[in-house]
Amino acid sequence: MSNIKDYKDVWVFAEQRGGVITPVVLELLGEGKKLAEEAGSKLCAVLMGENVKEMSDTLIAHGADKVYTADSPLLKNYTTDGYTSMMTEMIEAYKPEIVLYGATHIGRAFAPRVAARVNTGLTADCTKLEIDPEDKKLKQTRPAFGGNLMATIICPDSRPQMSTVRPGVMEKAEMDSTRKGEVISVDVKLAESDIRTKILEIVKSKKELVSLTDAEVIVSGGKGLGDPSGFELLKDLADSMGGVVGASRAAVDAGWIDHSNQVGQTGTTVKPKIYVACGISGAIQHVAGMHEADTIIAINKNPSAPIFELSDYGIVGDLYEVVPMMIDAFSAI
Ligand code: FAD
Repeated sequence: MSNIKDYKDVWVFAEQRGGVITPVVLELLGEGKKLAEEAGSKLCAVLMGENVKEMSDTLIAHGADKVYTADSPLLKNYTTDGYTSMMTEMIEAYKPEIVLYGATHIGRAFAPRVAARVNTGLTADCTKLEIDPEDKKLKQTRPAFGGNLMATIICPDSRPQMSTVRPGVMEKAEMDSTRKGEVISVDVKLAESDIRTKILEIVKSKKELVSLTDAEVIVSGGKGLGDPSGFELLKDLADSMGGVVGASRAAVDAGWIDHSNQVGQTGTTVKPKIYVACGISGAIQHVAGMHEADTIIAINKNPSAPIFELSDYGIVGDLYEVVPMMIDAFSAI
């Protein structure tokens, strides 16, 4: 049986889709670098797919000291069986001390299965990670009890320590294309019969999904819009500011806008330069997803709305009067 001391290095699961690295990976590399420095270990990335080697350079440029690549047609598209088996094998062979995954659909699906296979713990949806300076254990913080308190969790006596990390929370790693790193090709022993899922076709969603995570400006609407047509007005404001439209859960639950637009604890965590909250009260679960925006502008009829407590600029008024004035002003720039 392995000893805890045999485990070293910080690993980042480098999720890619169709040869494009998912944005959260750069955030994991940024955070992983910090943890590796604190732990005195190396930062490594794990890349699975078909013909993925070229992406190793991007991962090295963003801070990875080593990239483990598992290249096979069987790993071309994500399957739970394939990715779980491959990651399990790699962990057993190389023994990382920490493994970070993005809390994306893929990360959330296979990280718990890997944890069960290698008999360790997993903290899901972390928003803060740090190494305890005394005992060098990973302290993993995540919202708990509906976002009403933050829980800090450690994995006392099994390894690796594993976390899924909420996208949009950690700082992205800076790029340095002169960095050098090592690329290690891992033998893929998977057989077709190991994978129970057969992918017949990949159909891209027809609806226009917003990329809230990458947006620099977000104009969000809440229940205060009164009806779905209010989002057309917000879209005009977002367009005039070069941004995208977000929403509160109340607006999503009312069926006024798609869930992919939802900001907050059960939606997307965002960190734009400007966040405009229109007709949003500022419930803790909404705030959990947007409080790290550089500048927050709130428009609300109610001067006591909690959203004003964290706003940099607060406008007390009817959004249907204020937003058209803002559109005129931004369109004139
Ligand atoms: P309300 O709270 O109803 O606020 C509407 C606001 O609009 C009011 O402040 C009102 O003064 C203002 N208003 C009304 N008319 C106008 C007008 N004409 N002009 C200007 N202002 C006006 N919520 C999220 O947003 N994201 C989440 O991810 C999320 N996750 C949750 C998870 C859990 C487990 C739970 C329990 C709740 C979650 N919620 C989440 C719901 C959250 O608690 C609130 O219910 C929700 O955020 C309220 O949305 P709202 O601010 O749009 O609506």
